[in-house]
Amino acid sequence: PQPVLAVVGRPNVGKSTLVNRLLGRREAVVQDTPGVTRDRVAYDALWNGRRFTVVDTGGWEPDAKGLQASVAAQAELAMHTADAVLLVVDARVGATATEEAVAKVLRRSKRPVLVAANKVDDERGVVDVHALWSLGLGEPMPVSGLHGRGSGDLLDKVLEVL
Ligand code: GDP
Ligand code: MG
Repeated sequence: PQPVLAVVGRPNVGKSTLVNRLLGRREAVVQDTPGVTRDRVAYDALWNGRRFTVVDTGGWEPDAKGLQASVAAQAELAMHTADAVLLVVDARVGATATEEAVAKVLRRSKRPVLVAANKVDDERGVVDVHALWSLGLGEPMPVSGLHGRGSGDLLDKVLEVL
């Protein structure tokens, strides 16, 4: 079986857009409406001749537990079922209480965790990235799922840890 990368993060940070970028094709559903990716969806990816599976999580149901608990639960599940986890953060927004909660869960992970600072579309966005070191999950990697900036470096890093 091929290794699995699970992509987690708040709704609307650009997980599905980034997943499409990592796949090199349009498959993950992208919407402006938060929480539109209804469940976990697995895709086959290929980079530098190596195959792996990318799981795009969404699955936010507006239940009693609320968004923060729901995203943290997704991260917990990812950490136990995937070979590596990619936490996607909107670098323009920075780390919210939800990212803090998710990071707390992921810092206990025995599997590798990568942090993508998404929506860094141009050079100006780079200044926002360093603040994400505060999550305690290592170096935040600047990417733009929309324009493709940094996606090759991210894929190289993914293959390093998978
Ligand atoms: P998800 O809910 O985390 O899966 O987020 P989506 O991939 O559905 O994207 C949510 C919104 O953010 C959409 O309007 C995307 O076009 C936008 N978006 C995603 N990635 C980027 C990016 O790198 N730059 C910019 N400017 N917008 C982005
Ligand atoms: Mg999505």
